[in-house]
Amino acid sequence: MNGAAYKGEMLYDEPLSGYTTWRVGGPARRLYRPADSADLVQFLQSLPAEEPLLWLGLGSNLLVRDGGFNGTVILTLGRLDQVEMLGDFRVRVEAGVSSSKLARITARNELCGVEFLAGVPGTLGGALAMNAGAFGSETWDWVEQVETVDRSGQVRLRGPEDFEIGYRKVKGAEGEWFLAAILKLKPGDSESAMNAIQQLLEKRASTQPIGLPSCGSVFRNPDGDYAARLIEQTGLKGSCIGKACVSEKHANFIINTGGAKAAEIEQLMQMVRNKVEDASGVRLVSEVHIVGEAAA
Ligand SMILES: Cc1cc2nc3c(=O)[nH]c(=O)nc-3n(C[C@H](O)[C@H](O)[C@H](O)COP(=O)(O)OP(=O)(O)OC[C@H]3O[C@@H](n4cnc5c(N)ncnc54)[C@H](O)[C@@H]3O)c2cc1C
Repeated sequence: MNGAAYKGEMLYDEPLSGYTTWRVGGPARRLYRPADSADLVQFLQSLPAEEPLLWLGLGSNLLVRDGGFNGTVILTLGRLDQVEMLGDFRVRVEAGVSSSKLARITARNELCGVEFLAGVPGTLGGALAMNAGAFGSETWDWVEQVETVDRSGQVRLRGPEDFEIGYRKVKGAEGEWFLAAILKLKPGDSESAMNAIQQLLEKRASTQPIGLPSCGSVFRNPDGDYAARLIEQTGLKGSCIGKACVSEKHANFIINTGGAKAAEIEQLMQMVRNKVEDASGVRLVSEVHIVGEAAA
């Protein structure tokens, strides 16, 4: 790779525990912070085709194993950070803008629809990849178009029709990542939108262990039921493996109580999955993406 071809910052053997909300994860062989989206496109063009890539926003839905990631991590948070009001209730937002900032900026500009994102930790890129949702709204409800890039640096404009979009699931355009989205919102009133944000945040704080290292809900809700209800029913609240514990406040959260290993979280997930299946016959599916290699 030609070092002169990019303007961002490259870190080597960077521990990913500092970039995930669970505060676990071994080192990335390389971690690249692009200067902006044009720089990122150039950087991708300069990469060997076989280099493994991991896109990372806030790492709030990622379990990185203790052996780390043997490839290049691309960090978008705060790097692809442009927000542009386009008129006609449309806004172009780059993938590294945090979801909470997006909710507030649009509310201040008298646009409503994405207030729910205020309480979803992460970036717009992560919210697009996960179809993040809360309180009956989902990210893709508001997407008019997305800008994607592939590993050769080719940028494309795509519409929702190019993807299969479901509950915490987005498929299609394989081998492409999100650079930005154009959202079409509704006209609104700033004060009511900010009040709605405040209420949603209060509701969250009363039901979730906010402030403790977690990845939010670990398992997807099965059809017609709640993963948290199934877990609670097995009496697993408060169960721990090492420093990883099932939250007492919300059974579908696993908390790093201090110095947990990714392996402990993964083992606890497996234990929860097995006990729930034994008790109810339902096999829980992970919402969290698990990446990287186990420690040697
Ligand atoms: C306390 C807490 C509460 C939560 N509550 C909710 C909730 O209510 N609703 C909800 O849906 N989620 C919730 N989550 C999970 C998480 O916040 C969301 O999934 C969030 O959208 C992830 O964004 P991120 O930037 O952190 O993504 P990351 O964790 O960094 O990445 C998640 C996945 O997206 C991929 N990705 C990241 N950026 C891009 C990109 N630009 N292009 C393509 N792929 C990309 C990553 O490679 C990875 O596979 C919660 C998490 C926590 C910690």
